[in-house]
Amino acid sequence: MIKNSQVSVRTMTDQNLTDFIRCPYKFYYAHIEKKKHPLGWRQAIQHIINKVVSSYFQLPQSHRTPANVLMLIDQYWGRLELRMFDSQLQYYMAAATVTDSLMRNLSSESEIAQPLFLYERFRMNLKELNADLSLTFDVAEWQQDSFIVKKFLVDADEQMLELYCHLTVVFSEKVFGIRPARIEVVTLMDGDRHVFNPNKDSLEAGLIYLQMMKALLEDTRQFSDLYNMNECPACPFQGVCDRDEKNERKQKYLS
Ligand code: SF4
Repeated sequence: MIKNSQVSVRTMTDQNLTDFIRCPYKFYYAHIEKKKHPLGWRQAIQHIINKVVSSYFQLPQSHRTPANVLMLIDQYWGRLELRMFDSQLQYYMAAATVTDSLMRNLSSESEIAQPLFLYERFRMNLKELNADLSLTFDVAEWQQDSFIVKKFLVDADEQMLELYCHLTVVFSEKVFGIRPARIEVVTLMDGDRHVFNPNKDSLEAGLIYLQMMKALLEDTRQFSDLYNMNECPACPFQGVCDRDEKNERKQKYLS
């Protein structure tokens, strides 16, 4: 069980917030205790997606073809190791699905002449949170007097999509003084494109959301009510995780 009931989070990043949403204990081990851990399959595929998307947008526009998407996937996919996956079937299914999604989604993006940002990380101090905020903009495209932000993820649930939109709006408004015209998140394992259109209330909603997230991150007493056992089988911290098993006991009692 985690001994400190309160921890201090000085920097909120897209990565530590995503880990927290997947499992608060995972966030604690990776970002508070900074335990070393092997790369999971999801993280490894995400690195490859980032490489492929980044390389694709650096190609001259006339070279952004499905054949070159395939060539880039081929170039980076070899970095994956079969042992990261639960089975060979999972490995081959992931390869086929991500390849198909990247080819479809990137081919439709060949109109972007020169991205405004390409995997650029920004950091700012947010006084409302008394913390720093750090976020990577995958691909941003300037359009008239605003910009469109695009993100390419292995997968994401509703909570992660909500997190990403709030972070993008708060960051864009506070750092650049511009509200993004549109935010698009492509989830490559299911091939869906999620589109959000921020409005005048989005900044305030984003700040309230981030304040709530900071309070949750710092209060470890709530972790046992928030973690999701479905994440455990593929978790790199299984061997060291000393989670409070209150939920498991409760579930056993109810079953
Ligand atoms: S083993 Fe389960 S509860 Fe523990 S950190 Fe991993 S996902 Fe969270």
